[in-house]
Amino acid sequence: MTSPRPFNFSAGPATLPEPVLHQVAAEMLDWQGSGMSVMEMSHRGKEFISIYERAEADLRELLAVPANFRILFMQGGGLGENAFLPMNLSRGGKVDVVVTGSWSRKSAAEARRYADVQIAAEGNGREIPRDWRLRDDAAYVHVCTNETIDGVEFHELPQLTHGVPLVIDCSSHLLSRPIAWDRVGLAFGGAQKNIGPAGLTLVFVRDDLLGHALDICPSAFNYQTVAAAQSMYNTPPTFAIYVAGLVFQWVKGFEYAGKQGLAAIEQRNIDKAALLYSAFDASGLYENRVDASCRSRMNVPFFLRDEKLNDAFLAAAKAAGLLQLKGHKSVGGMRASIYNAMPLEGVKTLVDFLKDFEARYG
Ligand SMILES: *Cc1c(COP(=O)(O)O)cnc(C)c1O
Repeated sequence: MTSPRPFNFSAGPATLPEPVLHQVAAEMLDWQGSGMSVMEMSHRGKEFISIYERAEADLRELLAVPANFRILFMQGGGLGENAFLPMNLSRGGKVDVVVTGSWSRKSAAEARRYADVQIAAEGNGREIPRDWRLRDDAAYVHVCTNETIDGVEFHELPQLTHGVPLVIDCSSHLLSRPIAWDRVGLAFGGAQKNIGPAGLTLVFVRDDLLGHALDICPSAFNYQTVAAAQSMYNTPPTFAIYVAGLVFQWVKGFEYAGKQGLAAIEQRNIDKAALLYSAFDASGLYENRVDASCRSRMNVPFFLRDEKLNDAFLAAAKAAGLLQLKGHKSVGGMRASIYNAMPLEGVKTLVDFLKDFEARYG
């Protein structure tokens, strides 16, 4: 037996379920008697096709993705999608973006290169802004449903009533909770936060939004082309899809608090987040500044009231087996990302550490 691994609070690429890592290691040189590593297989061979089809089916089942949505297994990441989206959906026309933090602000800036972008509302990174100015003739409304850097999450998706599709960047909370598909036209997310290795980007797109790409859109990133080829128009990120597929199987079999699958994962995410936020709220040393109505279950930024303690905090955390707690450089402070794969034990260990550090330095 090796000693237990430290708890890893990275915002992404992020911690993966340990049973998945073990299975990947065990199958590394010979996937199920094929004599090949998954990395060495043709993406068109029967072995990989079986991996792909199971991953797609499991993801569809887990998130209850309706039949009129296609699931695309792409590359390019969230930032790539910031460009592919307007290229595929805007028809060169209008796009409304709700800015709730760093990622949606970036999305608006990139979309501006391809479309007429209006900021429909702008928040302060601590609250979701009210009173959106939406245009009836916009091609879509873009929202980031979990701001990874600011720690702001939509706990309910907006219900648009002006007939314009909602597009969500759900990179950092995809598969942490169900998605209300009846409110969404397109959802996208990079895998490296909650799903698997970097390199895979998932796009869920409603059928009627396909087929309107601008001429300048690269074929490999034309949603209709990718959908028509079952994500095999060019070589997909095969190894990342394989690992993601194992994560989907892990989620399906996950049990917690008398629940199973995504419901169990969601309940554990709720419990982990509650534990951590209540530790901050009870503390005189730490603070989380996000409004309670939209605190993220996945990414929890926090600050030490005495910033001079930051280096000592990070060093002591590392020595206690708690890794990658440093906040994003644009906001400073600390951030604990507690994605699906973070055990409850990891959050309890962090909370004990927080109290202990406060007792010594607070
Ligand atoms: C991480 C992230 C991105 C960017 O993903 P890349 O894969 O680095 O391009 C975009 N949006 C959100 C919400 C993210 O968390």
